Amino acid sequence: MTPNEFREHGHALIDWIATYREKIEERAVSRTIEPGAIRAALPKAPPRQAEPVSDIMADFESILLPGVLHWQHPSFFGFFPSNVELSSVLGDLLSTGLGMVGISWEASPALTELEETCVDWLRQMLGLGPAWRGAIQESASVSTLIAIVCARERYSGSKYAKGGIRQPAHPGMVYTSARAHSSVGKTAMIAGFGTDHIRIVPIQPGGSLDAKRLRAMINEDIARGARPVAIIATTGATANTAMDDIDAIADVAQECGMWLHVDAAMGGAAMLLPECRPGWEGIERADSIVVSPNKWLGAAFDSSMMFVRDHEHLTKVMGTCPSYLRTPTDGKVTQLRDWSIPTGRRFRALKLWFLIREQGVDGLSKRIRRDLVNARRLAQLVDAEPGWHVVNKITLQTVCVRHEPPGVSGAELDEHTRAWVQALNESGKAYLTAAQVDDAWMVRVSIGVLGTQWHHIEKLWADMRAYAGQNARLALAA
Ligand code: PLP
Repeated sequence: MTPNEFREHGHALIDWIATYREKIEERAVSRTIEPGAIRAALPKAPPRQAEPVSDIMADFESILLPGVLHWQHPSFFGFFPSNVELSSVLGDLLSTGLGMVGISWEASPALTELEETCVDWLRQMLGLGPAWRGAIQESASVSTLIAIVCARERYSGSKYAKGGIRQPAHPGMVYTSARAHSSVGKTAMIAGFGTDHIRIVPIQPGGSLDAKRLRAMINEDIARGARPVAIIATTGATANTAMDDIDAIADVAQECGMWLHVDAAMGGAAMLLPECRPGWEGIERADSIVVSPNKWLGAAFDSSMMFVRDHEHLTKVMGTCPSYLRTPTDGKVTQLRDWSIPTGRRFRALKLWFLIREQGVDGLSKRIRRDLVNARRLAQLVDAEPGWHVVNKITLQTVCVRHEPPGVSGAELDEHTRAWVQALNESGKAYLTAAQVDDAWMVRVSIGVLGTQWHHIEKLWADMRAYAGQNARLALAA
């Protein structure tokens, strides 16, 4: 494609995206697609001859678009917000257009130094102290993996890195709660701990991991020859946004010499607001933190920020220096490949830079505050409605609810819960996610899409009552 052709098609594509965003509300949030239907509509073999971009776009609209779940739709309340401000899209496009690979500082000094600047901006925005440094990783899971590997190496005095994971004399243990994201267990397993060495600590009534039980479990493990290595706490659990008591967990981590990693992938964005920071009490005592601006904050995926206290340890664990990457500036500059798993990196900081400058910290804070207020307002409506219950503590922007028709409980109630949310999702009017906490199904209303205003939530609430009521009547008639 020539630059001139790119100009023509690029302008058309930007127009397409702008119209898509402008008119997104006219679309159904999702459509029901038969598994395999999209694949079946695509050619089995690649084209031998070049095809016009107009044909590619036409196929995108007719074949692929029906299979797109509209995450930016104001009636999208599923999973978690994955906001993409259009300013961030511009930064992302610019990064792709420049097409550079940050394998070293010299490979593009601007890439490294803008990333360092944006990491430090975000640190300040979150109210974190000056000791924290960080880098942008591909995802929260990758950040947690790196944290666990750092914990492992600090515990073993770099023996695991050298001798591999056959160090059975004192097996290392990783602790987390049942509310932690599934990536914690997976990354601990990848880091070589094995599922036998990952312990799930019970939850206290308020929703936090129980620090006293954690201490007791560590004592039991030490008595049988194991050793504590890392504890992964969560600020804003995926299912119900439960917040761990970081300060109490930090006491145990300090006493036992464990690495404390805080997964604040989604919830961390709330720390822009000083009034939310009591939920982060003790954060300065953690060893590492992950906050993903590509969730609620508005940066295009992928953009997950990992902060560490001891960056020298991190770069010792993750660092590599093949001869082809050695330069006269070594030792004087940051080599971001030493902070992450891949050698190369995209110019990811651009999308964050565009976002923060175009919105300003005040603009971002105002939106996060709006979502928190809307969540509390919805919770009040649900609580006031007979037969409906809010089943989580409203710590952030997610309201977890259950509709409990009279006389319906246990497996029957679970079936009802999953059925009405499925029917509402299939209607295309809104999109919600059901989840299981403590063996019971509930429905999560995750508020926080850029365009979601209070009137969208009022409409959702009317739809929820209609679909749950209709399902209950159908069940009764059956
Ligand atoms: N941690 C928490 C608390 C999350 O909510 C999620 C995603 O939902 C993750 C980690 C995983 O994020 P990623 O897909 O960026 O690895």
